[in-house]
Amino acid sequence: MTKQITIIGGGPTGLMAAEVLSAAGHSVIVYEAMPTFGRKFLLAGKSGLNITHSEDFLKFAARFGSASARLRPALEAFTPGDVRHWALGLGTETFVGTSGRVFPTVMKASPLLRAWLRRLEAQGVALRTRHRWIGFAQNGYRFETPEGPVTVQPDAALVALGGASWPRLGSDAAWVPWLKDKGVEVVDLQPANCGFDVAWSGTFRERFAGEPLKSVSTTSDAGTFQGEFVISGQGIEGSLVYAHSAALRDRLFAQGQATLTVDLAPGRTLERLGRDLARQDAKASFSNRLRKGAGLEGVKAALLRELVGDINRVSPEELARLIKSLQIPVLRPRPIAEAISSAGGIAWSDLDENYMLKPLPGLFAAGEMLDWEAPTGGYLLTACLATGLAAAKGIDAWLDPR
Ligand SMILES: Cc1cc2nc3c(=O)[nH]c(=O)nc-3n(C[C@H](O)[C@H](O)[C@H](O)COP(=O)(O)OP(=O)(O)OC[C@H]3O[C@@H](n4cnc5c(N)ncnc54)[C@H](O)[C@@H]3O)c2cc1C
Repeated sequence: MTKQITIIGGGPTGLMAAEVLSAAGHSVIVYEAMPTFGRKFLLAGKSGLNITHSEDFLKFAARFGSASARLRPALEAFTPGDVRHWALGLGTETFVGTSGRVFPTVMKASPLLRAWLRRLEAQGVALRTRHRWIGFAQNGYRFETPEGPVTVQPDAALVALGGASWPRLGSDAAWVPWLKDKGVEVVDLQPANCGFDVAWSGTFRERFAGEPLKSVSTTSDAGTFQGEFVISGQGIEGSLVYAHSAALRDRLFAQGQATLTVDLAPGRTLERLGRDLARQDAKASFSNRLRKGAGLEGVKAALLRELVGDINRVSPEELARLIKSLQIPVLRPRPIAEAISSAGGIAWSDLDENYMLKPLPGLFAAGEMLDWEAPTGGYLLTACLATGLAAAKGIDAWLDPR
């Protein structure tokens, strides 16, 4: 007898599970609330679709912090190399960028998604859009559809509903109370890979919002990273800030305050900077001394002035120290709706090693809705695909124990 499987959520996680389960001969229906599939996946494609990372596997697998150990078997079964091979099988060649990040050569997601949906249809997967899961029914799942309410009672189901970032693309975390009501522990969803609010003065905000700070180095509990970030109307954002976001968020939560330390002149040592600044004509304007002695102007110079009171009076040694370790006090993370991804989600303690929810036998979960987080760099999509595959194998094994 063919088994009926319901997959709720048509993002990369759900689609990967549908691919594996239909290939194993099961009858699969994917229910997606939005009018089209993979909207967040397509948005990720707008910045090139960083689909995985080429670094050493052990390093890669350690990027998921406290969830690394639980994710490891899924990542071993679908490695970054497998991601590239799988994409190629769908006609999407990939390349390794200078940072080791892997992107499709076409730098977008739409051709991959189109080919993927074609493959699923060819494998007999039924794809239902505008079908929103609205909660549990007696032995089943209730959906709101254009034809009215529907209840389905499959042999097994997978929820792959994503986190809570960018809710207008479909993942709105409406599932949290429904699973909690069924006894599933859900760790509070929090912004990950996000910007932070900073109390900029009105003048600084008006002049510099949108300006990038290029070639700087930044430090937090997460470590020291080089790159660039952007001054926003509310604070700071951009890839270099995202790299620190988990550390800053956790410190804010634990201690109520956190700072990002910025080195505005990473190419010069503190000593050399001190010497170069001390050599400047004391009668020259502060801007000139800063420009000639430290190579700083524009937004970098303005940031120093913004954060250091009465900067004209500081000694060259002190100025050098400030340039090398300028403290930006962050107030709070930007709202989760603006974040790249979510931390928190379904607790690992309530998932068995096959991704089945312990309190709800027959219901599996995968992807971003689980309690893990990772930096940007292709880790998110790889873990979504890998857990989608692992949950599909879990469903197959549960339906057909051999
Ligand atoms: C701007 C941006 C850029 C990104 N860039 C990258 C990148 O370059 N590399 C990377 O690795 N990651 C990137 N990510 C993150 C990555 O896109 C996500 O981690 C990934 O899409 C999560 O996959 P998922 O299938 O678990 O969830 P989602 O992609 O969120 O899919 C969940 C699906 O479930 C549907 N759904 C939700 N609730 C219901 C319901 N009640 N009923 C039916 N359907 C429902 C949603 O509509 C959605 O289609 C980016 C994210 C953003 C926001």
